[in-house]
Amino acid sequence: MVAEAGERSYRARQIAHWVWQKNVDSFEAMRDLPEGLKLHLKEHFTIAPPRAARVSRSADRTRKLLLELGDGEAIETVIIPADDRVTLCISSQAGCAMDCEFCATARMGLHRNLTTAETVGQIVAARRELEPGEELTNYVFMGMGEPLANYPRLTRALTIMTAGWGMAISPRRITVSTVGLVPMMERLLAEFQVNLAVSLHATTDELRDRLAPINRRYPLAELIGACRRLPLKRRNRVMFEYVMLEGVNDSLADARRLVKLLSPLRAKVNLIFFNPFAGSPLRASSRAQVEAFRAILHQGNLTATVRESRGTDIQAACGQLYAVHHEAPAERV
Ligand code: SAH
Repeated sequence: MVAEAGERSYRARQIAHWVWQKNVDSFEAMRDLPEGLKLHLKEHFTIAPPRAARVSRSADRTRKLLLELGDGEAIETVIIPADDRVTLCISSQAGCAMDCEFCATARMGLHRNLTTAETVGQIVAARRELEPGEELTNYVFMGMGEPLANYPRLTRALTIMTAGWGMAISPRRITVSTVGLVPMMERLLAEFQVNLAVSLHATTDELRDRLAPINRRYPLAELIGACRRLPLKRRNRVMFEYVMLEGVNDSLADARRLVKLLSPLRAKVNLIFFNPFAGSPLRASSRAQVEAFRAILHQGNLTATVRESRGTDIQAACGQLYAVHHEAPAERV
């Protein structure tokens, strides 16, 4: 676009800097651009970062942003402050096609992929909602949707996030979570040094077929085999997420099978309390059961952490995101 305006290429860097680092929302504000270029840009482009149509605040300081997209679709993005970090949970699709039994977003079905602008736009929108002194430190693709099912746009978003001309975020602070789309996992780690989280949830194909139906396409042996081959940095480990469901996948036999399943890998496990949502008969495991499960993983030399639920009171926790589809507004004021 800069070349078309008859300008030198360094102008593109200047524009990117204003948009991605200074968060300006008009070409007027780009002080170091010549007037002619500003006019050209104004004529041909718009800067329209998504804005939060609603912000819900949890008692634990978690904030959920509802972002309305131009065509009436809506997505949710969650700001999660903890002691020493502020994590942003980013959505990659409006809805999701993966149909996992324990996830509220699955009930929406897939509405559509998010564009690159809508993906990165969530960071821009979240920055506007930060409190004084607060800064985003970590970015997780654990919101609505399956990021690896929207691969080209995800990777363009990752490029903008990590590039020096973009947001200059260290890839070590970014985690992409996947239900296990094997070919895309391998491609992603060949291209980016981000962290990978795999949503596992079961230790047998029979159960995983039911909880995460994509398992029928990429069964456990294939998934674990692919994880073995991933080009990981020396200190990196694959993180496996495991939602603890009472009486479904939380027995001590499950824990022992999990140790065995992951033994060929450099892995760590994140045990997640199931967050209930309307219409789901599933129940969360008790804290005692989660601790007993974790103890077995530790005995098997498997590092395991327990993820505390955040923002459950505003339906902002894992698996609770469900954005209501609105009619497209006729005109925006
Ligand atoms: N599609 C991607 C990213 C979105 S889900 C993936 O599957 O990884 C992000 C995490 O939330 C996943 O580990 C998912 O299994 C977990 N999750 C989904 N529903 C949940 C629920 N109801 N309670 C707790 N965690 C849930």
